[in-house]
Amino acid sequence: DQEISRDVVVVGAGAAGLTAANELRRAGLSVAVLEARDRVGGRLWTDVIDGAMLELGGQWISPDQHALQETVEDLGLETFSRHRDGDSVYIGPDGAVHRFTGEMFPVSPATEKVIAEVTERLDAMAAEVDPDRPWAHPKAAEWDRITWDAWLHEQTDDDEAIRNLAFATGTAMLTKPTHAFSLLQSLLMAASAGSYSNLVDADFILDKRVVGGLQQVPLLLAERLGDDVLLGQPVRSLEWSEAGVVATTDRTVIKARYAILAHAPVLYSRISFTPPLPRRQHQLHQHLSMGFVIKVHAVYDRPFWREQGLSGTAFSPYELSHEAYDNTNHGDERGTLVGFVSDRNADDLFELSADERRERILESLSHYYGPEAKNPLVYYESDWGSEEWTRGAYAASFDMGGLHRYGADLRTAVGPIHFACSDLAGAGYQHVDGAIRMGRLVASQIVDKART
Ligand code: FAD
Repeated sequence: DQEISRDVVVVGAGAAGLTAANELRRAGLSVAVLEARDRVGGRLWTDVIDGAMLELGGQWISPDQHALQETVEDLGLETFSRHRDGDSVYIGPDGAVHRFTGEMFPVSPATEKVIAEVTERLDAMAAEVDPDRPWAHPKAAEWDRITWDAWLHEQTDDDEAIRNLAFATGTAMLTKPTHAFSLLQSLLMAASAGSYSNLVDADFILDKRVVGGLQQVPLLLAERLGDDVLLGQPVRSLEWSEAGVVATTDRTVIKARYAILAHAPVLYSRISFTPPLPRRQHQLHQHLSMGFVIKVHAVYDRPFWREQGLSGTAFSPYELSHEAYDNTNHGDERGTLVGFVSDRNADDLFELSADERRERILESLSHYYGPEAKNPLVYYESDWGSEEWTRGAYAASFDMGGLHRYGADLRTAVGPIHFACSDLAGAGYQHVDGAIRMGRLVASQIVDKART
């Protein structure tokens, strides 16, 4: 066993942990980053599957995500826009395929009117919510008591409108059933992206990608840290007192003045704390859980849908794959589609054999793009639910009432232990941008403490 001494030990080499480590280094503090996996990046993972480069985890950057944009620029990475020329596709309750352009789904004028009105209401509410302190809104308790589903049903009885409104924060973002989280949680999601309308606008929320893959962000951040990133070393225990911490893996013991837990909150309990974490954290952490979505990749010899005048952007709250996009790599002749299967649909699919699952998903994609979608050259499902060191996708959210009850202590340090990850972010919540913001925040808090 090796024994190491550092100012700060960072647990987790995702975007949050690696950002914090670099910031601390810049401020003159010594760091070590312990990573459970044999790679860095966590939920960022660009891999080559059967000859195709795929973004198995996070990939898109939106225009409001300044922290991530600054990092991408600082690392000298290039970005490119998602292909979006042509018509989008929407499938309604009758299964008919409708082409459209712009943000509004091609629904009946009556349904369109309801969607527009409720969207306006949601934008007004989200504008009042500070994403860093949603619990501080005067109506936070009230909004955390009603489910997203129940609130939508209070606004209208138009089922198609409800399904389309529910979609943006539910199926597409928190990836939990709409009865499983509150209106307040939904408003946090919207406020963290600037507005509810931003979330609905695919051209905004899924704007840019990084040439060569977004995992380069953590890879390059780790490169700057050199030997101070230790892979394949899950932290098993953490002893702590006001004087500092001792983090232990199967091979290494690290003594430090401060620790940063830079991973999903559902994994805090994988670490044995001595003394135990305080009552408040024990309680709080139990009320956060991961959503669940399967990201599906299908690569074809060419982007055949473009020949039909389609952009590749497709939505339907009635389809197994509720959204899908052209995800062709920069400069690639082949065409890639990415589809998503969320919450209970994802549960149901994993009851099936791999062959049946593939058939069902490709069948759903073929409803949007035609029969050619059924025969990709490369097919792959990102299943983050079976990843021990993540346990779901995209990120964590509170159960009913949890955000108002516990939110204010989400980022509160416990003695020398600080918490940072995208799941705890305000602006950029659940996104890489939020992970970077949290990494910067805890680094500055520790630098301040270290100076006094
Ligand atoms: P993580 O990336 O989870 O990093 C935590 C690290 O800690 C991991 O490497 C883990 O192995 C390690 N770890 C855990 N426990 C221990 C331990 N005990 N000891 C040592 N190490 C430990 N975001 C976007 O902005 N745009 C997108 O398009 C997007 N799409 C997504 C698609 C998918 C399929 C997924 C899964 C996520 C997506 N996200 C997207 C979300 C984004 O990827 C995450 O929010 C972000 O990467 C989280 O970074 P993090 O550093 O907070 O946590």
